[in-house]
Amino acid sequence: MNKKEKAYYMDLLNREKERIFKNLGYLREGIGSGEKGIPTHIADHGTDEFEKGLDIDVSDAEGKILNKINAAIEKISGNKYGVCDECGKDIPKSRLKALPYAKYCIRCQREKEKSGV
Ligand SMILES: [Zn+2]
Repeated sequence: MNKKEKAYYMDLLNREKERIFKNLGYLREGIGSGEKGIPTHIADHGTDEFEKGLDIDVSDAEGKILNKINAAIEKISGNKYGVCDECGKDIPKSRLKALPYAKYCIRCQREKEKSGV
């Protein structure tokens, strides 16, 4: 995955994250009317500091997604993004575009769902 692609998926993940923060009520509409609508306090300081101050209930569905997004962002930084956690094969780009925080390829995901994980 090249730099441009990484930036692309990073952007998708950050947008998804932003959406969740909004859903969780941490961000109010109207904040970050600047560039691309990304709240400036997130865009400027990255997300670590911001999240540490939040008490997110991870049992919440959105919180779970947020964890996946964070894991995916870490994988991008570690050059491991887009690889299935289970079988180690590349996750198809079409899947990543639809679900940028996907941890598994479609096959492994189905297996997991079957076994109820
Ligand atoms: Zn797999």
